[in-house]
Amino acid sequence: MPIKILKLFAVYCCVLFNASTLPAQADTNIVSLKSIDSTIVQDVRYATTNNFTGKVLYPSAKVYIRKVVGDELARANEFLKSNYNLRIKIFDGFRPLFVQKIMWKILPDERYVANPAKGSRHNRGAAVDITLIDDKGTELEMGTPYDDFTELASFAAANISDAAKSNRKLLRDTMIKFGFIPLETEWWHFDFNGWNKFSILDTTED
Ligand SMILES: [Zn+2]
Repeated sequence: MPIKILKLFAVYCCVLFNASTLPAQADTNIVSLKSIDSTIVQDVRYATTNNFTGKVLYPSAKVYIRKVVGDELARANEFLKSNYNLRIKIFDGFRPLFVQKIMWKILPDERYVANPAKGSRHNRGAAVDITLIDDKGTELEMGTPYDDFTELASFAAANISDAAKSNRKLLRDTMIKFGFIPLETEWWHFDFNGWNKFSILDTTED
């Protein structure tokens, strides 16, 4: 069943925030990433059984994202193309809250999965999971696969190849340059600067 973007609604965590402390909404616009940059390759594992849960979690294999986040990701992609002949491959962008709850049930470890009681930055449409690919579409060596929940996935892991270290650094430096914040425990995850200005969103299905 397709995600009904028009039926997105905000889920505010009443325990943590109330109307007076909730930050102002920066951008209410969630869009398909393809409409911004069709050269970013999409490989949405959560729309297949090829993910750590072994379950199909997304009704659609399209990546959705806040417009402003997608715009900056497209600029990062352009920079990588012109300077390194590389491109971005994206595994995940906006993630509905109901999916976060399923993930948390399977892996309740805050190093790797955000507690749905607080919400993930993916639930705000303000985080991306990405890697780099060459001009043939082959993923660059990063030391671990995506969603490898071991210490080797940490950006600063020592026991990975020099090539992996250098590829991780290029990805990280590029993303920082375009306004993203890296996550130390997952080389593939980046939050958009100002993620807390975006509300947590869920989808309804009918
Ligand atoms: Zn992530």
